[in-house]
Amino acid sequence: SLLTHPVETRAADDVAPLLPVVGRGQSVPLVDGRSARSVHLDNAASAPALQAVADHVTAVLPSYASVHRGAGYLSQVCTRLYEQARTEVARFVGARDDDVVVFTRNTTDALTLLSGAVPGEVVVLDVEHHANLLPWQRGTARVVRAHDTVVATEAALAAELGRRPAALLAVTGASNVTGEVPPLARLAALAHAHGARIVVDAAQLVPHRGVDVAGLDLDHVAFSGHKLYAPFGAGALVGRRDWLDAAPPHQAGGGAVREVTTTATAWAASPERHEGGTPNVLGVAALAEACRALRAVGFDRVRAHEAVLHRRLVDGLRDRGLEPLRIWADAADVVGVVSFTVPGFAAAQVAAFLSAEHGVGVRDGRFCAHPLLARLGASDGAVRASLGVGSSSADVDRLLDALDRLRADGP
Ligand code: PLP
Repeated sequence: SLLTHPVETRAADDVAPLLPVVGRGQSVPLVDGRSARSVHLDNAASAPALQAVADHVTAVLPSYASVHRGAGYLSQVCTRLYEQARTEVARFVGARDDDVVVFTRNTTDALTLLSGAVPGEVVVLDVEHHANLLPWQRGTARVVRAHDTVVATEAALAAELGRRPAALLAVTGASNVTGEVPPLARLAALAHAHGARIVVDAAQLVPHRGVDVAGLDLDHVAFSGHKLYAPFGAGALVGRRDWLDAAPPHQAGGGAVREVTTTATAWAASPERHEGGTPNVLGVAALAEACRALRAVGFDRVRAHEAVLHRRLVDGLRDRGLEPLRIWADAADVVGVVSFTVPGFAAAQVAAFLSAEHGVGVRDGRFCAHPLLARLGASDGAVRASLGVGSSSADVDRLLDALDRLRADGP
């Protein structure tokens, strides 16, 4: 049991959380009435709020009013907060001056919005999260099978883009299953060389790497606040304006219009065009504060912190004969998202054991990426451990120790 199995006692090369997050280490119930300090290794699903985000939300909550609607003082405060958040989010991803930031509910919502604006066919790989696959299937999606290397996959994309014109290439910024990061600047150049645009599903990228939309020459990026330490309910679509301004509004309603009569409506330009209804001001404030806090600490430090933990996790798994799933043999960069299977155990069994017996939270299943899990030979599901700025080496050790226990105790 945990009582005979001390945790957090290792001294050498211990790595502390980089930034404080709320709820870290709270006590959670185990089977048999025991309890343990919880370990959250499911940052890729939703990352706990940064303490700075929680403080900011608490501070702005009293300024409670609707935005863009009134001359009242609090309404003006809220409107300023909301519009400053737009500026911060644009800055966070290195947007061009004329790019637009549309606030959405999450990545799924952002990509669905873009799918309603794309003027043509979409080329997409078969390794995507469903959020970056299903919206395109509402129109014409041409799904390309990823090869075992990035280089061969790029060649397959080039062939498909060359075969028939496409409006858009939709790619993941970092896989939610393997953490692998494709060469985004090269893919952008590839899309542009074929007269297409590129959208990056950056849901799993932005928590780990600084993104430079202008520098990488990306046309659109989408991401979610709740994976970026800013729960809940706000995300963003950032990028070029023209398709968005030519498209019907994502949601028709108040705020999205310039002029309405009972028979005709003149829609506003983006971003208001696609933000009908009262927005999630607190979610947006949280998202912007997370962007600010991560920029302040700097992605060099985020990356260095994560690299040590990632190495420890991958080495620890390999020492136990558990090989992380990989799409490509030559991915140049991998973020701290690691999926694996444990021979002899169903993924759900592993995850339930880790939680119930050891208080370690991971994700199991097919991660909303059914085609990819099938390709990786894990159709029955896998276990995923994902790191964040709130993770420590003790968290990783707790997982590895618990896996030893699982295998020692047997199924
Ligand atoms: N894209 C990737 C790579 C993801 O990992 C996720 C969430 O798991 C999404 C998109 C969808 O994000 P959301 O559920 O916030 O819309």
